[in-house]
Amino acid sequence: MSDVLHVQWTIIPANAPEPWLNCTRCRGATRFRTSGKIRVNANGKRVDAWLIYKCTSCDNTWNRPILERRHVSTIEPHLLASLQANDPELCRRLAFEQWRRKLKVEHFDDVTVRKNVVSETTRPAGRLEIVCVVPETTGLRVDRLVANELRLSRSRIQSMQNAGHLAASPEGLHRSIRNGLQVRIELRGVHDGDKIALAAMGREA
Ligand SMILES: [Zn+2]
Repeated sequence: MSDVLHVQWTIIPANAPEPWLNCTRCRGATRFRTSGKIRVNANGKRVDAWLIYKCTSCDNTWNRPILERRHVSTIEPHLLASLQANDPELCRRLAFEQWRRKLKVEHFDDVTVRKNVVSETTRPAGRLEIVCVVPETTGLRVDRLVANELRLSRSRIQSMQNAGHLAASPEGLHRSIRNGLQVRIELRGVHDGDKIALAAMGREA
């Protein structure tokens, strides 16, 4: 058995991104939140569909286009049925989709982290390797994720990196987490290495 502990973290954001838009009722830029509702309008053979957003201050609605004047024969029947049924999974996927327009968009950092052990190790583990699966966008930064989940302070994370005992790739500690993020931490000689390893596996006492 190797002394490298491999874990996979799957990051599920709590909240979808919220765009800043001009609210006609508030007469200024406000944040809009998805209502989780889809509106479909079929006009002859043409279909329009929108995800409905609501102004967070006054509930005024704004429609985010999903399909525009699409011929019904070009829409996958399953997608059309899901749109018409307000399918919650589809609503969520759409709410996390990238914005095509250039907009100011608020990202949030509340997440749930599911931890899986990819390969067990001898104890104490000499090195910890974390791979992150991030299917949806979040504003959570790498240092905050690692600190929260390993129950360490962000200054400790920073000094581990400065000493060459921690590496986050490809973009370092101060960026939002992305799919494929890898964090490597040396645990050899670290006094609370066992505690860190247990937290990484989601098995802390
Ligand atoms: Zn408003």
